[in-house]
Amino acid sequence: MSIRPDLSASVGHTPLLRLRHASELTGCDILAKAELINPGGSIKDRTALGLILDAEQRGELLPGGIIVEGTAGNTGIGLTLIGASRGYRTVIFMPETQSREKIDTLRVSGADVRLVPAVPYSNPNHYAHHARAHAEALNAAKPGSAWFANQFDNTANRDYHETTTGVEIWEDTAGRIDGFVCAAGTGGTLAGVGRALKARNAAVRIALADPAGSALAHYINAGELLASGSSISEGIGSSRITANFADAPIDLAWSIPDDESVPLIHRLLHEEGICAGGSSGVNLAGAIRLARELGPGHIIVTILADAGTRYQAKLFNPPFLREKAIPVPAWLDKAFPA
Ligand code: PMP
Repeated sequence: MSIRPDLSASVGHTPLLRLRHASELTGCDILAKAELINPGGSIKDRTALGLILDAEQRGELLPGGIIVEGTAGNTGIGLTLIGASRGYRTVIFMPETQSREKIDTLRVSGADVRLVPAVPYSNPNHYAHHARAHAEALNAAKPGSAWFANQFDNTANRDYHETTTGVEIWEDTAGRIDGFVCAAGTGGTLAGVGRALKARNAAVRIALADPAGSALAHYINAGELLASGSSISEGIGSSRITANFADAPIDLAWSIPDDESVPLIHRLLHEEGICAGGSSGVNLAGAIRLARELGPGHIIVTILADAGTRYQAKLFNPPFLREKAIPVPAWLDKAFPA
């Protein structure tokens, strides 16, 4: 018999897939960890579980408690579903610009969703400040009733990736890995996986694939926090250095434009049968750039963070893509005649 006792036990241990076309294109083995098959549909299920386990252990999250978080959506979905299975409710603050699909998923899953304006972290209206203040107000009214998960600056996020995602990638490849690349939102994935791999082999190259509009790639390359441009990808990029990102061991960093990353999402669906979200396109673009940098014959790992179905109305919507000056493949135009 093989029975997992609950949802938490089905997070992680995702398959590592070889992407045939990207591998042929570069002469490297381009491998992708399929985080989109986690029970809540994204890599953020790991973050949600890691933060919850840590808070339970510390006694910060008490039985029947309310989990409060600010999120682009995926962490909220993970916290809400894993929370339901462990007896917690959630209050989720998120920017109103995030996909309708993620907002609806949260609402039907039982989260109390509060949409707030999409503003930089320096603005008091940022979703993370709302979440912290809300948890504080609940605790002031009833001590111990609420817990602010704080995925950006609670380094239990990075630590959980270090001991699960990073170790799994090392074991999946039997240590035959030359490079790892992904985008950063909180930075938990990049820092956690980067630290796990560097601890086992300091020669593994760790690279950041940053969406346009984020300050991180330029910060790594030039040491100053400046951002320009924008991206349709969600959940990645940052205007500040979070505690989770702070000690990621990064060797290389690139800013990836949407007209490079989104076509890779379209190709991934038709050439590999994988329907992935926008951040996975940025990750794959980064993997191809890292392969070009290292040359043929290397083994490079990246992440499929969530599914494209979560962004149907953006990634697979010809008028939306045209408005953003992103190429529309002929088959997509054919699927949705004007
Ligand atoms: N991709 C997607 C779709 C996400 O939701 C997130 C998390 N916000 C990330 C990538 C980035 O992961 P991390 O927070 O670990 O940097």
